[in-house]
Amino acid sequence: MSRILNLINGHLRGDLAAYRGIALLPLRTISCTSRKQAHESDAHTSALRKRWKDTADTVIIGGGCVGVSVAYHLAKAGMKDVVLLEKSDLTAGSTWHAAGLATYYHPGINLKKVHYDSIKLYEKLEEETGQAVGFHNPGSVRIASSAARVDEMRYQMTRTHWHVTEQYMIEPERVLELFPLLNIDKVLAGLYTQETVTLTPTL
Ligand SMILES: Cc1cc2nc3c(=O)[nH]c(=O)nc-3n(C[C@H](O)[C@H](O)[C@H](O)COP(=O)(O)OP(=O)(O)OC[C@H]3O[C@@H](n4cnc5c(N)ncnc54)[C@H](O)[C@@H]3O)c2cc1C
Repeated sequence: MSRILNLINGHLRGDLAAYRGIALLPLRTISCTSRKQAHESDAHTSALRKRWKDTADTVIIGGGCVGVSVAYHLAKAGMKDVVLLEKSDLTAGSTWHAAGLATYYHPGINLKKVHYDSIKLYEKLEEETGQAVGFHNPGSVRIASSAARVDEMRYQMTRTHWHVTEQYMIEPERVLELFPLLNIDKVLAGLYTQETVTLTPTL
């Protein structure tokens, strides 16, 4: 994560380096463990606060995966004055709890596109930044044990042409082959998705 942010920061204005004085992480994000700390009135901090308020084009509040992603994309698009504010540690919120699964499973076409872009981004992030993100692409099998869930999977199948990943329904016996520890007594079908990724969201 720090390398990713350093990459982001590489695009930011040099004078943001001054903010390092109050950063708890080796990043040019502004990170404070408490409101009190954020408001400490030493001259350095006050000057910095005033400067980013006066000069930043974009201030992003919250250094979870969404805030970091927004900062990354804005910086990559050429925006210079992007400041990411995090009240605790980067990724300390929901992102810290996430299992790190990135899949294509969503009925909405727009979100399928977001999923697609995310997976393609994570795939090349280590190469781009030097920071490993724990990227693995084992694929996935979702199981259906009710008729409604089978219907939902079929609905998914009507959307598969919106992305390039192979996705198809499989019989319970094939589910068992792929995951032999499973009790398939109540399994009616499975949905295999070739590209389903795991990564470490806090890296
Ligand atoms: C147990 C669990 C498992 C999950 N598993 C997955 C999964 O496998 N795959 C998946 O895609 N999603 C998963 N999710 C969902 C995913 O974690 C969230 O959708 C995602 O992390 C939300 O990111 P965020 O950046 O919006 O929020 P957060 O990660 O919560 O980031 C918000 C940040 O804002 C900071 N903040 C808040 N207020 C302020 C303020 N006033 N000033 C400065 N900073 C502030 C917080 O400290 C925090 O760091 C899971 C969620 C949970 C809880």
